[in-house]
Amino acid sequence: QDKQYADIHIGIRNTITMLGYKIRKENITVIEEFDDTLPEVKALIGELNQVWTNLVDNALDAMEINEKGTLIIRTKKDNDFVEVTIIDDGPGIPEDNISQIYDPFFTTKEMGKGTGMGLEVVHRIVKQHRGSIKVKSKPGHTEFIVCFPING
Ligand code: ADP
Ligand code: MG
Repeated sequence: QDKQYADIHIGIRNTITMLGYKIRKENITVIEEFDDTLPEVKALIGELNQVWTNLVDNALDAMEINEKGTLIIRTKKDNDFVEVTIIDDGPGIPEDNISQIYDPFFTTKEMGKGTGMGLEVVHRIVKQHRGSIKVKSKPGHTEFIVCFPING
């Protein structure tokens, strides 16, 4: 498995296309705030796409109860890193749960709907690339901020 230069925006757009059915069903408006000058990132492309998929899928699950929502995906360059922020206006993550969200099998979803593995996988991939992940959440607003080093 070799790292290759990846266009982050293409990966994110593929994820949105792949989850298009769910996005339409839930009346989600997707807003791309993309930095046009974002450099390509040396990474394991399949793993990177797994990160966008797992984070967007969680955002969509969170917004499902409102029967509409806004998903914002923002990109920017930050020194030797690219930063991707995924924001939803779902109910938010209760403070008591924040410390557990990356744990394998931690899920608040009903039986059969969640495996609790999505964020564990995201966390592993981020670590593997020597990147970082942060979460900020309050009622009605959740954002995951992921950074990957540009040069792998
Ligand atoms: P799963 O999606 O299978 O439950 P994840 O590891 O992807 O497992 O997420 C773990 C838990 O973190 C979710 O069950 C949910 O409680 C919480 N979570 C993750 N993302 C969000 C989000 N955007 N809004 C609210 N809660 C979230
Ligand atoms: Mg998930």
